[in-house]
Amino acid sequence: MATIIDGKAISQKIRSEVKSATEKLIREKGVTPGLAVVLVGDNPASKVYVGSKEKACVEMGFYSEKHVLPVTASQDELLKLIDKLNKDKNIHGILVQLPLPKQINEDLVLEAISPEKDVDGFHPYNVGRLAVGKPLFQPCTPYGMMKMLEYSNISVEGKHAVIIGRSNIVGKPIALMLLHKSATVTICHSKTKDLKAEVKRADIVVAAIGKPEFVTGDMLKEGAVVLDVGINRLESGKLVGDVDFASAEKVASAITPVPGGVGPMTIAMLMYNTLESAKRV
Ligand code: NAD
Repeated sequence: MATIIDGKAISQKIRSEVKSATEKLIREKGVTPGLAVVLVGDNPASKVYVGSKEKACVEMGFYSEKHVLPVTASQDELLKLIDKLNKDKNIHGILVQLPLPKQINEDLVLEAISPEKDVDGFHPYNVGRLAVGKPLFQPCTPYGMMKMLEYSNISVEGKHAVIIGRSNIVGKPIALMLLHKSATVTICHSKTKDLKAEVKRADIVVAAIGKPEFVTGDMLKEGAVVLDVGINRLESGKLVGDVDFASAEKVASAITPVPGGVGPMTIAMLMYNTLESAKRV
């Protein structure tokens, strides 16, 4: 039976470390980390995410601002707001909640955020910094997975990591992060010829597909470490990952559950990145 990598416990540890470091920063330098969260429209899932981020800011002792624009907001309006936040000395991190309404060009918006305040790590400058191994901000979800490995004392060096999914927010950045820790990395995607054979060779499997219980125990090598990024709601209402937990935990040496695995790490790392940004002032 696999060891469960408890994302809830690890994220709490990180949050309490960020909270203490924030108190110290305020006490010694008089700097309060500030995060601005921008929400356009009223997508229910986005509202929930923004609410959790605000709550986390309060818990950390951060200064936070929420900016809500109507679903009809123009691209110009949003760009003007970002420009204002870029210049605001009280703000160290700017997060624009995705997805954005159709009339707004997401790439343009992400590129308008100052790279020094890009706590999501999605700006092409920060993507490039990560690619050359000199990151300024690392995207929160994959960064959280690296912390999970670190806190669980799972070494990466020399291991074969197989990543399923090549998205810009998870698959590609986790591949780079694992590569920089000296893993041998394979990235698989929807056009991969023999996915089963690729996954069977993996010491570390990252599932970032968006398909419920897609990776099953029989696909895994005995003793593999399994990181499940997926968040899928079944018709029954049950929340499951991209990995079939019941069969995978019998083969894996360590596995992240859903819920309570990678999910809680994302906000913890957003707090971490915002603190790091404030420390650089
Ligand atoms: P995405 O839809 O952008 O990418 C999915 C990837 O899966 C694509 O690269 C595609 O090539 C690959 N894929 C699809 N079908 C495949 C198949 N049959 N075989 C192999 N590869 C296949 O997804 P994403 O944004 O990376 O998110 C993936 C999952 O992670 C989703 O369930 C999402 O909800 C979840 N997610 C969770 C968090 C978090 O925990 N905080 C953050 C981001 C995403």
